[in-house]
Amino acid sequence: MSDRLRRLVVGRLESLERAGVLQLPRPAKPGSNKSSESLAEQSPSREEFKSPTLEMLQQEVASCTRCDELARTRTQTVFGVGSPKARLCFLGEAPGADEDRQGEPFVGRAGQLLTKIIEACHMKREDVYILNMLKCRPPGNRNPLPHELANCRRYLERQLELIQPEFICCLGAVAAQNLLETTVPIGKLRGKVHAYRGAKVVCTYHPAYLLRNPAAKRDTWEDMKFLMREMGVEL
Ligand code: SF4
Repeated sequence: MSDRLRRLVVGRLESLERAGVLQLPRPAKPGSNKSSESLAEQSPSREEFKSPTLEMLQQEVASCTRCDELARTRTQTVFGVGSPKARLCFLGEAPGADEDRQGEPFVGRAGQLLTKIIEACHMKREDVYILNMLKCRPPGNRNPLPHELANCRRYLERQLELIQPEFICCLGAVAAQNLLETTVPIGKLRGKVHAYRGAKVVCTYHPAYLLRNPAAKRDTWEDMKFLMREMGVEL
């Protein structure tokens, strides 16, 4: 079984388990008269079959109003950008003012720095997938609130389930701690490979932090070299 297929199967089984499906029906034997109704009883809920593609999920997100304040104040939702078959996803925190205006993640000054980091790793933005924990801009660029992260998590999980990246690079403490469901500081999460549903996760500083603290760029470059070694990419 290929790595991609294995991750797909593991992700699907975990998703079914979360939906409360703890047993899968045996395939009916040829000639069996088992009714379709009883098979339907054992099938996952309709909820599980929502948004079978990234495009459909993006449409679902665009009309989401689960976070009252964010839905009222956003210009638009910011879903994600890049290759839907990317090996590597960059995961940030939430859209800022530029992203809210343009509808694309990481397009402001921090985004331009991220683009430089990606290019320094001999890749282009189109080769990877870039997304945020939250799909709507928190007003005034405040930190996402816990209930907002919880509301948006279903979209993030489904998005990653559809992309099936081999690697996820968390940018900053909010993304790293929320994806990995830990309170360990970002400094201690760096330099290690973590796991998220079959994907390998590495953590580094958010580009916005690097703009405020240029000395930390050296650490982020070390994290990128570590990530590229894990991916088998020569720098
Ligand atoms: S942040 Fe996510 S859950 Fe909240 S309104 Fe926006 S799309 Fe919906």
